[in-house]
Amino acid sequence: MIEAEFNSWLEAHMAAFPGMISWAEKLKKLGHWNAVRSSWLRVMGDVEVNDALRVTEDLARGDMAIKNAKSFGDHAREIRAVCKGMASRRKHHSRKMIDGQPTIGCLECQDCGVTSIFSVDSMRDEANGTLDRNDWYLHTRARSLAVRCTCEEGQCRTFPPLQFDPAKMVSTRGMSAEAFDRLADFIAEWKRRVGERLFQPTEF
Ligand SMILES: [Zn+2]
Repeated sequence: MIEAEFNSWLEAHMAAFPGMISWAEKLKKLGHWNAVRSSWLRVMGDVEVNDALRVTEDLARGDMAIKNAKSFGDHAREIRAVCKGMASRRKHHSRKMIDGQPTIGCLECQDCGVTSIFSVDSMRDEANGTLDRNDWYLHTRARSLAVRCTCEEGQCRTFPPLQFDPAKMVSTRGMSAEAFDRLADFIAEWKRRVGERLFQPTEF
């Protein structure tokens, strides 16, 4: 947003949070307001004004809360973070239309941002040759972990806490024999790399 847009957003934001008006007055008296305003202008520089207005409106309505703001001084940074997430999701979703037809961008998570992996117990069973491929429930439910995908949709998420790391995790994608083959290849390769003796799957 340019400065004129920033001014209109700031006006709307202060109207939504009337406590900010006296906060700003106090800063003006102390001679700090201009510095705070310029810092906010810089922070909000790469944010779309319509996104910022939308977030301010959601906050005013109570549809959203600023979680990490201890004081009004934190508002610009927190609002920018929400706006960046909105812009990123938009970019991701716009890519999903090809010739007017929706397509899937991420084959790992089907664009939902979350995928699942075999647990360390399943990895250990595979390594010990005791993995029961017929027990789907065990491996795909009780023994799988949900993780954030590495795609843009996954990067917009903060939950689940773990992020998929193909270097040490194996996806249960598809829940088929292919998933077990993937696990077997992964464990065999890992053993080959570190040697049978040193092989020890650990918690992620
Ligand atoms: Zn994905």
